[in-house]
This record gives sequence, structure tokens and C-alpha cells, in this order.
Amino acid sequence: MKPCLREKKQFGFEDIPENTAFDAGYLVSVNSGWRSIKPVLNTEKCIGCMQCYLYCPDGVISIENKKAVIDYDFCKGCGICNKICKLRAIEMEAER
Ligand code: SF4
Ligand code: SF4
Repeated sequence: MKPCLREKKQFGFEDIPENTAFDAGYLVSVNSGWRSIKPVLNTEKCIGCMQCYLYCPDGVISIENKKAVIDYDFCKGCGICNKICKLRAIEMEAER
């Protein structure tokens, strides 16, 4: 869980860091290529609401210029971001 959520204090979006609370890759190396599907962002639909950022279990989504950015080096392709995005801005596509 992200530290800002673990502390049960009231907070606004401005209190949430724009990037992952803990850098992906700090303890592990780049994924080994086992991902079979990957999330692909439609920047036209994304409004930067941060839901995918908050729910991604690996903390590999950041918000830059009010758009989601996915770090494919560490994304495992679980599809949670696809499920949580109400605007359907993330589609899952086969890995090539
Ligand atoms: S949940 Fe969807 S609209 Fe919100 S930031 Fe993520 S991709 Fe963009
Ligand atoms: S597919 Fe899973 S690991 Fe990859 S960005 Fe989406 S929620 Fe995170």
C-alpha cells in the first residue's frame, strides 16, 4: 500500500506524489519478458484521474502532464488498470 494511503489522514490530490511512492526497480531488475498482454494508453481518453495509479499493484504508473504513463520495464500485465479505468482509456493488447 502506498504510504500516503496507509496513514489514515485526510488528504487531497495535491498531497499524492505524481510518481510512484517507491521506485519500481529499486530491488529488482527489468521484468524477464514473461508478460503476455500489456496495457496501452489512449491519451485522447485519459483525463489523469489517478485511479490506475492508485490501484496498480506494482506502482509502475505515474501521472505526467495529467496523463497516465506506464513503465513497461516493470508492468506485469495484470490488467487491473484496464479494469479500474472508467473511461476505458487503457486497452490490453497482446505482447509482441
Ligand atoms: S484511470 Fe484512466 S483516465 Fe484515469 S488516469 Fe488512469 S488511464 Fe487516465
Ligand atoms: S497491467 Fe497491472 S502492473 Fe501493468 S500497469 Fe496495469 S495495473 Fe500496473
